[in-house]
Amino acid sequence: MGLSLFSDASTRLAQALKFVAISDDAIEHLKHPKASLSVSIPVRMDNGSLRFFQGYRVRYDDTRGPTKGGVRYHPGVNLDEVQSLAFWMTFKCAALNLPYGGGKGGITVNPKELSRLELERLSRGYIDAIADFIGPDVDILAPDMYTNQMIMGWMMDQYSIIKRQISPAVVTGKPITMGGSVGRESATAMGAFFVIERMMSKLDRHPSNTTVAVQGFGNAGATIAALMAKAGYKVVAVSDSQGGIYAKKGLDIPSIRQYKHSSRSIQAVYCAGTVCSVVEHEVITNEQLLALDVDILIPAALENQITATNAPQIQAKYIFEVANGPITSEADGILDQKGIMVFPDILINAGGVTVSYFEWVQNRSGLYWTLEEVNRRLQEKMVTEADHIWTISQDRSTSLRTAAYIHALNRLGEAIEAKGTRDYYANKRF
Ligand code: GLU
Repeated sequence: MGLSLFSDASTRLAQALKFVAISDDAIEHLKHPKASLSVSIPVRMDNGSLRFFQGYRVRYDDTRGPTKGGVRYHPGVNLDEVQSLAFWMTFKCAALNLPYGGGKGGITVNPKELSRLELERLSRGYIDAIADFIGPDVDILAPDMYTNQMIMGWMMDQYSIIKRQISPAVVTGKPITMGGSVGRESATAMGAFFVIERMMSKLDRHPSNTTVAVQGFGNAGATIAALMAKAGYKVVAVSDSQGGIYAKKGLDIPSIRQYKHSSRSIQAVYCAGTVCSVVEHEVITNEQLLALDVDILIPAALENQITATNAPQIQAKYIFEVANGPITSEADGILDQKGIMVFPDILINAGGVTVSYFEWVQNRSGLYWTLEEVNRRLQEKMVTEADHIWTISQDRSTSLRTAAYIHALNRLGEAIEAKGTRDYYANKRF
């Protein structure tokens, strides 16, 4: 998507600024990433050859605290994307009132082509390259697309080796035995689920007569599909990067999950083998999944999935953005005109970073919480901020996305202005 992703992301800021009285200084501040690092990572491959991979880390804004955000492994990773994701993290952390700014990292790589040892060398090499740019009080890493607990463990371990002290709080989403938090793996989906339940009850909708389609069957997509199915929603379609399946009567999500997990193959999503017999289904494309006549559509894959081209075909009533940036700003306008309610990424997928915050707090205090405690605090945070955003959208007659940006901007503006504004300095009297 080239250079357009960041400018598209900035459009959302411009839209929300119309509703917020913050200083020009704050606006100017938020237009520019604080620091962007681009590195080449040498990796000794299993066959003895040396390959270089391109890596990035962007610290977008740290006014409200150390920057925070995941690391993505994907062939499409580029600086524009990482910068946009860091920008979204800034607003996400502010919307949830976490004491963090926004950051993000990534490596341009197809992790499926690497052996596990190569993946470990790459992950440790990334930390070697960015170690001076990060830290528990500076910039804190976490999982994102195609990175997981084990990779976070390697990263934390490598940072600790470099610093010669165990530093669990530099990375969240670690294995539990290395200081990870219970509930972190399911947190993105769990947070989304808490908000969906809250909003469905506000809208007077019941799970049993609500159909759902989920695009993306990674950690967040598969978990939200399972949570929705368990709560009684009818999940009629799921997909992964290769395509999807649709069953009018509803899919058996636990079987699909289990099969995909055990076979580690894309075939699982097509109900290959035994899962095939569980329910009658149709094979569909990702494009068809997005256009299904369902009540709830959950994009949980990559950004830019719903654009001005396919937005007119979308039939869902509600879209919950579990992915970061799945809808372009142009498409937003079209969906709005069609009366489709979009619940934005910076709220819906914020459960991940919220439990990352809990993990960081636990690492620093040395006191570890139970799963009940983590989920109770997560639910409280998600529902409180979702309610605020809902109220702003009702009071100001704006989309929920603009409301979420207004909510975040108020907090960001206040923090930036606390250091002084033009008006403050112009008034020479103390
Ligand atoms: N990568 C996740 C996100 O986009 C989680 C970030 C974090 O836990 O810091 O929100």
